[in-house]
Formats: sequence, C-alpha cells, structure tokens
Amino acid sequence: MALIVQKYGGTSVGDTDRIKAVADKVIETRKQGHKVVVVVSAMKGETDRLLGLSQQVTDQAHGRELDVLLSTGEQVTIALMCMALEHKGYPARSYTGGQVHILTDDAHNKARIMDIEAARVLRDLNDGKVVVIAGFQGIDENGNITTLGRGGSDTTAVAMAAALNADECHIYTDVDGVYTADPRIEPNARRLDRITYEEMLEMASLGSKVLQIRSVEFASKYNVNLRVLSSFEEGPGTLISQEEDFMEQAVISGIAHNRDEAKLTIVGVPDRPGIAFSILGPIADANIEVDMIVQNVGVDNTTDFTFTVHRNDFARARKILDKIAEELGAKEVKGDEGIVKISVVGVGMRSHAGIASRMFKALADEGINIMMISTSEIKVSVVVAEKYLELGVRTLHTAFDLDHAQEQSA
Ligand code: ASP
Ligand code: MG
Repeated sequence: MALIVQKYGGTSVGDTDRIKAVADKVIETRKQGHKVVVVVSAMKGETDRLLGLSQQVTDQAHGRELDVLLSTGEQVTIALMCMALEHKGYPARSYTGGQVHILTDDAHNKARIMDIEAARVLRDLNDGKVVVIAGFQGIDENGNITTLGRGGSDTTAVAMAAALNADECHIYTDVDGVYTADPRIEPNARRLDRITYEEMLEMASLGSKVLQIRSVEFASKYNVNLRVLSSFEEGPGTLISQEEDFMEQAVISGIAHNRDEAKLTIVGVPDRPGIAFSILGPIADANIEVDMIVQNVGVDNTTDFTFTVHRNDFARARKILDKIAEELGAKEVKGDEGIVKISVVGVGMRSHAGIASRMFKALADEGINIMMISTSEIKVSVVVAEKYLELGVRTLHTAFDLDHAQEQSA
C-alpha cells in the first residue's frame, strides 16, 4: 500500500464531467489499495476570470485582497471533487490551504511554503478517506490567505508529498509529459522518459510551462519522485528524479524558451564599487526577481547595466529604475519587452565542450542576432528578438540532433 499525491490541473477539472472523470481515476487508485491525497487547481479559466474581475475594479489589483479573491477558485473545485467522490460511495474530505496549515511567508501573490501540518491529513487517510486539498493557497503567520503564484498548485502537491512522506507525486495535466521542446513550436519534439530535477528546473524556468518552477525546487530538495502524466490518456509520462548514470547518453535534453521576460538597461551609470548593489538592491526589496544580468566594461568611467525581469514586473521595475537613474546621475533607462530567451539544456553538457559555440554558430547561420548570453553548468541561454522565437527553437532542436527518433532509456 502506497501513499500517493495526485494533482489535477485546471483543464483536468475543467467542467463537472471532467471532475467526475477525475473522481473515477482517484477511485481506481483507491481500489488498488493506495491512500490518496488529491490536490486540485481552479477549474480552467477561473483564475483568469477572477483576475479579470479585479481588474474591472482597479488597475492595481495585487496583495492581500487579490489573494482572498483568487483562492476562491480552488475552493470550488475541492468541494465539487469531494461531492463527486462521495456520490460514488468513497468518503472524502476537502480542505483549504489554511485548514491544513499550509504555512507560508507573507509575500502575497507569490508566497513560499514554510511548513505544513500533516497530522490532520494523515488521520483522515488512516480513516479511509480521500483527502482533497486546494492547491495554490496557504496562510501566513497572521492568518491571512496567501497564494503561491500562477501554477502554484504543483508546488502544493509536491510540498504535500514531502510533508506526508508520500511514495509518489503525480502531476496530471493536459500534456503527456515533458518534451524536448514546445511541440507547438517544434513539431519534431519528443516526449522524454525521464529528466533530472536540475534539467527540469531549467526547462520549467525557461518557459516549458508543464510545472511551476518552485514545485521542482521543492521536489529536488526533498527528493520527491515526480511524474508528469496526462489526465486524458494512458501513458508513462515523464519521471523527474535525481541524476543517474544511464542518463549520460544525451548531451542536450531539450530546447527551452521563455517569452515572459523583458529587458531593462540603465545607461551611463558611474563605474564604481557598489553600483550593482544600488541598482539591484531596491529591485530585490520590491520582491522583483532578476534573471540575466550583464554589465558592460566601462569606457568614460561610466557603464551600462542590463538585466531581465518578468514582464509582469516590467512596469514596476522600470519605475524603480527611473528613480535610481536620477539618484545615480545615469544618462537614461531603456526598456525592451520584445525579447525571448532560448536555452539549450542538458546535464550531459558538463562533460562536453563546445556546446556554446555549436549553439552560436547555428543561430548565426540563420542570421539571428544574440543580445545577451548566460551560461550555467547545464545550460546556455541567449536573449534574442521575439520574432526569432520559432526559428531559433527549431534551428537549435535540429542542431543538437533532437529531431530524430533516438533510443531512450526507460
Ligand atoms: N489556479 C492557479 C493558476 O491558474 C494555480 C494553478 O492552477 O496551479 O495559476
Ligand atoms: Mg499548471
């Protein structure tokens, strides 16, 4: 008998028929003798609908009240799911994040989980109940409702799996696994049988929106075996786990892209110690995450400082930067939202030289100009103009031999 956490995303619970179908899948797992904790998202489109409502009232909807609003989406699903299970004769209990003490920090709209009280859930499981938990939400020290950022139900599921010491965490979604590239962009993309946490972290953070990044970080930290599966068709999905020897075969596992970033440049800042801190300090204080950073070599005792942020944070970051520019006596602040980041990702890269040059040559051959570059042990990323997204991804997919059906270890 195993303890399994199953997470169903918005499409999987898109209407009441889908909710009943998910209940059947849960019951199947119960019948195999397993204990099941179900984590659900809001029904498809619901979170966007709620966001839309808030935007009709104010153009600055964020913070505490937005969380009170957005968390209602998942609450609808847990109740309907339990009703569906009980209707079929399976006792079930629904809980909001607060009710099972998914304790988070107080960073509204992107809170981090700090602790979970497993006792209540374990009691219900031992009583033979299915436990259904609202994804995406928690509660802070002062009892305020928080949410975990878009896609946060994945993180709820993994955190629950870690807290309960579950045997497996299954993320059911509308795709049948993790692909070598976004199949909507690259028709030759293939499903991967397995991928390491590290690679998935890169793939997820770079726009392969199968899983929320934080859920993978969590899984990696607590060594939770994560499987991404389709809730619509049978199949093995993709297992996300620790690196193992047999995974060394491929140098590159996939091509990831991200169109959610925007670029900001502060031009002509004095080139002296402490400048990077005086620019990025206030940005960090505003809870804005910075991804790539480039600082040019100074010429006339000034330097240009460029970094990327999420597009949603662009306006706020720009405002902060305008103020910093004035304080530092910089020449100007430039912003560019028409960019994408494309990356080649693979743990095999560690032991292979020449990945970057192969990448740059392939892009150059297609006349694609590179604006920024960054590298890590397992990825090389470039920022290019948005219009090159499709061409760039396909070019690299081919350049790294991902197109052809290759033998994969299972
Ligand atoms: N309902 C939330 C969203 O749409 C959380 C989730 O589905 O994971 O982002
Ligand atoms: Mg999702």
